[in-house]
Amino acid sequence: MASITFKSFIGLHQSSMEKHHHHSITTPSKCLVPSQLHYRRLNVVAAKSSPTITGRNLRVAVVGGGPAGGAAAETLAKGGIETYLYERKLDNAKPCGGSIPLCMVEEFDLPMDIIDRRVTNLKIISPSNVSVTIGKTLKPHEYIGMVRREVLDTYLRDRAVASGATIINGLFVKMDKPQDRNEPYVLHYNTYNGKPAGERMSIEVDAVIGADGANSRVAKSIDAGDL
Ligand SMILES: Cc1cc2nc3c(=O)[nH]c(=O)nc-3n(C[C@H](O)[C@H](O)[C@H](O)COP(=O)(O)OP(=O)(O)OC[C@H]3O[C@@H](n4cnc5c(N)ncnc54)[C@H](O)[C@@H]3O)c2cc1C
Repeated sequence: MASITFKSFIGLHQSSMEKHHHHSITTPSKCLVPSQLHYRRLNVVAAKSSPTITGRNLRVAVVGGGPAGGAAAETLAKGGIETYLYERKLDNAKPCGGSIPLCMVEEFDLPMDIIDRRVTNLKIISPSNVSVTIGKTLKPHEYIGMVRREVLDTYLRDRAVASGATIINGLFVKMDKPQDRNEPYVLHYNTYNGKPAGERMSIEVDAVIGADGANSRVAKSIDAGDL
């Protein structure tokens, strides 16, 4: 799950729709059957009181280059936002079963060959020896699609870069939050550009998306609570 932090300065924040000029994106989730179909609604709001950015684009840092970060960075870059995608380990193969609902292929516009294995029978055994068999209800033509996480994550990150995002092989360390509405977020990170030891660097942005996984440092920096 991704956490997101904006400051009101940027004119791009979650807000009530009243008294604002707003632009909303409404997308049905194709992974649900019609009876479950619901609409996810994202309101991108620019308030009249929001200061205007002149002479440059909005700058957003996405921390974490897993599926959430890669997809978010691509969407932002396509929207003309100056996007910086941070990933500490570009060849990371996250411990993950790798099964995805097949509707995700269409929803995320993935190539079919991203499916590495087509599984029709799967038995999962827990450390306490409880087992569950998956696949009994599959019809003859159905299967569980399995991806290799390093392949999927790289594919999504590469597509973000192709859309204009800048990828930084770095470890996000901490963030200085703005004390004033006109101040930026300052992200401190170690960059690993081919050097054995990371080099400490920082960047100023208008908004931060924390897509850095279960133990998110971004979430901790904004006191997001237990995730
Ligand atoms: C054992 C296991 C099995 C699973 N099996 C499945 C499955 O079969 N199917 C399924 O759909 N889901 C499965 N999941 C869940 C799935 O892995 C997560 O839902 C998914 O990875 C979340 O994606 P994400 O992009 O939010 O975060 P992540 O995939 O966790 O990505 C976070 C990224 O941020 C990077 N990062 C973290 N901290 C920093 C930092 N400080 N600076 C820079 N980069 C950072 C990490 O290197 C990582 O690449 C499984 C999870 C586990 C643990």
